[in-house]
Amino acid sequence: MGCDYIALATNGVQNLHPYLPGKPAEELERELGLKNVVKLASNENPLGPSEKALSTVNNHLSGLSLYPDSGGYRLKQALASEYGFSPEQVTLGNGSNDVLELIARAYLNPGDEVIYSEYAFVVYSLVTQATGAKAVVTPAKEWGHDLQQMLAEISDKTRIIFIANPNNPTGTWLSEPELTSFLDQVPENILVVLDEAYTEYVMDEAFPNGLDKLADYPNLIVTRTFSKAFGLAGLRVGYAVSNEDVANVLSRVRQPFNVNNLALVAAESVLSDKDYLARSVEINSSGMRFYEEGFKKLGLEFIPSVGNFITVDMKQDAMPVYDAMLHQGVIVRPVANYGMPQHLRISIGLPEENERCLRALARVVENFE
Ligand SMILES: *Cc1c(COP(=O)(O)O)cnc(C)c1O
Repeated sequence: MGCDYIALATNGVQNLHPYLPGKPAEELERELGLKNVVKLASNENPLGPSEKALSTVNNHLSGLSLYPDSGGYRLKQALASEYGFSPEQVTLGNGSNDVLELIARAYLNPGDEVIYSEYAFVVYSLVTQATGAKAVVTPAKEWGHDLQQMLAEISDKTRIIFIANPNNPTGTWLSEPELTSFLDQVPENILVVLDEAYTEYVMDEAFPNGLDKLADYPNLIVTRTFSKAFGLAGLRVGYAVSNEDVANVLSRVRQPFNVNNLALVAAESVLSDKDYLARSVEINSSGMRFYEEGFKKLGLEFIPSVGNFITVDMKQDAMPVYDAMLHQGVIVRPVANYGMPQHLRISIGLPEENERCLRALARVVENFE
């Protein structure tokens, strides 16, 4: 080729590193000839999909030849009545990642500034860089977001601040007073994107509900997903809730049919499946306790997490540990791409999966000593 097609890409895209997904179980089975691989690498719901969502999907298969409802009328109505906002405030996405990208595309010009924390969800940097905007990354405080630092970095050029509560991959969280005091200090013309992908798992009384803040802070955008506690990661549905003007702007850059037929009906269905949600949360809390105790016994430090994953410190390069666990048929997630080369993130699985994972980890740790 006489032409450098990489150099032809926009400046922002030239410097992008594609998102690194967790290793698929099938791939490891193929590569190492293993069976019964356990994947605890992508924060997926270990229960599998809700029965209700499954039967709804089955009943709608014959609609595959039709375009989806572009406006997502029924799902927006269901969300609005479940959580108490108006359907006009909702922007549906092909996963909440889609919505994060819509926000960046609609609101960022090259040279604008975007603030997010060290160790924050990696999609914030991807969507920021792709637009040619400048990332302003603030140092973490005890692995979490340092809101004072974030406020201190606000300039005339700041357009968006991304906050994950709780954050992935650290599992750290911000309390109600911390969040409110922060929102009070952010100028109205700067959008605050509060990513609540794991909110359903958090039980602490002091944990804020971003949706309750929308009326007081018109610059707030709350994003949520059906990928985690609702168990529909493969169908891709997420959404943003914002003021109606922001929703109007986002709808201008959205692909007309960005959420597919089956995703729309499955999401609506699982939203009413309270029993499934309760079981998801329950199995997560007991799994979390299992890992915390297990790590303590192994003498491993971990970052206390309120998500559906826990990140553990190997006190050495984590890649050999990751590899050794792969050879035992257990896939966890290295987080070196987050600047955490000594940590591994483990998604909470079913009890038997957690046991296999901890046993594999224990074996590796014993061999290192
Ligand atoms: C998993 C995750 C999401 C959700 O991604 P989807 O595109 O909705 O599957 C969003 N934010 C964070 C921090 C996540 O960890």
